[in-house]
Amino acid sequence: MKKIAVLTSGGDSPGMNAAVRAVVRKSIYEGIEVYGVYQGYQGLVTDNIKKLELGDVGDIIQRGGTKLYSARCPEFIEPDVRKKAIANLEKRGIDSLVVIGGDGSYRGAQRLDEEGIHTVGVPGTIDNDINGTDYTIGFDTALNTIIDAVDRIRDTATSHERTFIIEVMGRDAGDLALWAGVAGGAETILIPEAPSDIKEVAERIETGMKRGKKHSIIIVAEGVMSAGECAEELRKYINVDTRESVLGHMQRGGKPTGSDRVLASRLGAFAVELLLNDIHGHAVGIENNRMTKTSFDKVFEESHKIDEGLYRLSRELSI
Ligand code: ATP
Repeated sequence: MKKIAVLTSGGDSPGMNAAVRAVVRKSIYEGIEVYGVYQGYQGLVTDNIKKLELGDVGDIIQRGGTKLYSARCPEFIEPDVRKKAIANLEKRGIDSLVVIGGDGSYRGAQRLDEEGIHTVGVPGTIDNDINGTDYTIGFDTALNTIIDAVDRIRDTATSHERTFIIEVMGRDAGDLALWAGVAGGAETILIPEAPSDIKEVAERIETGMKRGKKHSIIIVAEGVMSAGECAEELRKYINVDTRESVLGHMQRGGKPTGSDRVLASRLGAFAVELLLNDIHGHAVGIENNRMTKTSFDKVFEESHKIDEGLYRLSRELSI
């Protein structure tokens, strides 16, 4: 390996900065020149690339978002566009790249690897929906942000005897909704991976009210339906006072938790280690507290699955 570059791509997630810092510092520790690509794949194409020194990643481990900025670059699926990106790396003698992002970003990373740039992916997304890792960078922080919101809403729900419907992020993946629902003691959790029977939800709320429950909390992943739609559906079956809360982008922001910072530090450094050992075309991950690598092909082989045991438990505990 001669020189290494690092970029963040797709939706930003808390802990991306800690991962960038780890890539930069581990590279310099190993005596390798390291470059930051600004604005994800877009910056690779427009040549927004700068050499980074130790000080450039100082004071960022605690910050949310990404200092390298992120961007969507739909044209990156075009081979001619990627040729430009590769030329921009090659003219600086950069032969290796770390891509921090979600599964969309991994697709671009896989193409670049096939086209000659040794590339390793680092899972950076709040959704926790990437195969080959138990946790993605940002998931723990987003989860705790949601739990904080649920706790606050629970206080007011109890005071007014209402049913609160809280919409959380997760277009295709229900991990955030499921974990937040379990941790926040929600009565109902609606996730894209399981069928949603609103009639049954209504019956459970009614039964709860009959035995004196003061409030009910429903957590719905955005991929299932909106909080508003959920309220409308519920009203088809019961007469209940509902309030809807859409948490939105606050779930993406904020300073990363300790777990996310440590995870990002470990994964970022491990990505550099793989490249040093001439291993590429892989994504790094953590499984059973061990650093692992999974080829991009394998990562894409199956769609992400929910933890079925945890989903069953959520149903058992919310009777
Ligand atoms: P998140 O899960 O947080 O949304 P993501 O990495 O999945 O993150 P995407 O918007 O899906 O986010 O992908 C990020 C970028 O990756 C795209 O804007 C595009 O530049 C690149 N990309 C996605 N799919 C491909 C592909 N098939 N080939 C080449 N590049 C791709």
